[in-house]
Amino acid sequence: MSSENAENAGPEPIEPLAPGDPAPAAGPTGPSADAATGASADTPTDAPTDGGPEAGPDGEPASADGGDGPEVWDVVVVGAGPAGASAAYAAAVAGRRVLLLEKAELPRYKTCGGGIIGPSRDSLPPGFELPFLDRVHAVTFSLEGRFPRTRRSRRMLFGLVNRPEFDAQLVEHAQKAGAQLRTGATVTRVEQHGPSVPDRRTVAVVLADGETVLARAVVGADGSASRIGAHVGVKLGQVDLGLEAEIPVPPSVAEDWKGRILIDWGPMPGSYGWVFPKGDTLTVGVISARGEGAATKRYLEDFVARLGLAGFEPALSSGHLTRCRTDDSPLSRGRVLVCGDAAGLLEPWTREGISYALRSGRLAGEWAVRVAEAADAVDARRQALNYAFAIKAGLGVEMAVGRRMLSVFERRPGLLHAVITGVRPAWKAFADITRGSATLGGMVRSNGLARRALDVLDKRMDTESGVGPAGRGVTRKDEEDAAAPEEAAGAL
Ligand SMILES: Cc1cc2nc3c(=O)[nH]c(=O)nc-3n(C[C@H](O)[C@H](O)[C@H](O)COP(=O)(O)OP(=O)(O)OC[C@H]3O[C@@H](n4cnc5c(N)ncnc54)[C@H](O)[C@@H]3O)c2cc1C
Repeated sequence: MSSENAENAGPEPIEPLAPGDPAPAAGPTGPSADAATGASADTPTDAPTDGGPEAGPDGEPASADGGDGPEVWDVVVVGAGPAGASAAYAAAVAGRRVLLLEKAELPRYKTCGGGIIGPSRDSLPPGFELPFLDRVHAVTFSLEGRFPRTRRSRRMLFGLVNRPEFDAQLVEHAQKAGAQLRTGATVTRVEQHGPSVPDRRTVAVVLADGETVLARAVVGADGSASRIGAHVGVKLGQVDLGLEAEIPVPPSVAEDWKGRILIDWGPMPGSYGWVFPKGDTLTVGVISARGEGAATKRYLEDFVARLGLAGFEPALSSGHLTRCRTDDSPLSRGRVLVCGDAAGLLEPWTREGISYALRSGRLAGEWAVRVAEAADAVDARRQALNYAFAIKAGLGVEMAVGRRMLSVFERRPGLLHAVITGVRPAWKAFADITRGSATLGGMVRSNGLARRALDVLDKRMDTESGVGPAGRGVTRKDEEDAAAPEEAAGAL
């Protein structure tokens, strides 16, 4: 694990597990004045009640009343993407009875570049072998196709995977740790009180066919259109639309891209495009703020044409929304925790989400174990707040810096292009972040130069553009900056 990963840097949990209880696999962190005072957006809905019995045969749910009553799982995880598989793995490895519910059959396709940066690699279960299709050593940056500049690195920057394969492998690891998987199981809602809930320590997970599954704790990892997120009341501050095409190419074209990606700063504020090579296929995509669907589609078409790839028939074209939580968005409600895209946990600037899903999923699984053990609502609330604290102390801090970067990028993509391609420390920072030897948040916190550079960029944006965070896309000044990167960077 990178030393920069702040989610492991918090204080100890308020109440340690009793001796003999399996500890979470890796360092949950804890609160918090919040837990003591109860002041938090993560509000419980259940009230203190008697506990139910536990203990069933290994890997099988126990009954709610200790007798012939309905079966109860310790932890039910909804959604088997990276977040859900990580949560299921973490809870199962702690010896708990875990059920992973997935609506699709696996392996399933997911619209995604499949870029695996250092923090993702650091968050994988032990023994996980990454199914890399390519290893990135060079990045070409361009501004709407112009001013291309390629930066190279002897050491690998990050790797590229096919999501169906990667996700299925993660699920297999969770299963090997003891989690049970049910595919073709669409969850329609969760209930924390009412006739389907046998007692206040139990959550009812209702499937599309009407079946109800019971759990002591639920982890919602059902992606960016999350039903569990809606139950928890996740609040979203940024929604973007990503469009992608998987384009099979002949060997000569594939060879040209091997080990190199392209990042193109796009025409709409905050938009960018990418080419990620994966052997005989290129993943070509663009992302931009939601609400500009036609312009985003046009950007992808122009981008593909400009790259000379329009003649190759895509094997698959798809779109998917990405969503970022607001700072005060809840991460739990009662005995239900949310993680990954379902919680709106995503890097706001790059929209990188796999490492956020893996990291938050692992924490959610670890803390769900404690929620499952909680004897009453007060304890369940305390454990859920511990989870929220761990997320806010780590990924929350990263997201705050990412939002500032997005704000600069939205207003002056050309300046950013100039800095990243023309200033050696900026390129080194990009390389270190993708490799996982540093985080953006850690850099801004501990590196005076990085902090000053961001402050100056922020200030220049305010004084020069006079526009709000909605930005204005590529301007003439951007073009001047991009054409003369050293000069632009020097002016900082
Ligand atoms: C165009 C695009 C490109 C991207 N490229 C990258 C990239 O290169 N690198 C990167 O790090 N991130 C990338 N991301 C972001 C990344 O794909 C997500 O952040 C990541 O997949 C989140 O993982 P997750 O497990 O939270 O959700 P998901 O991967 O979406 O998994 C959610 C799972 O829940 C299941 N599910 C949904 N609803 C239900 C239900 N009701 N009941 C049961 N199961 C359900 C789904 O079938 C799915 O399997 C990209 C996103 C987009 C849109």
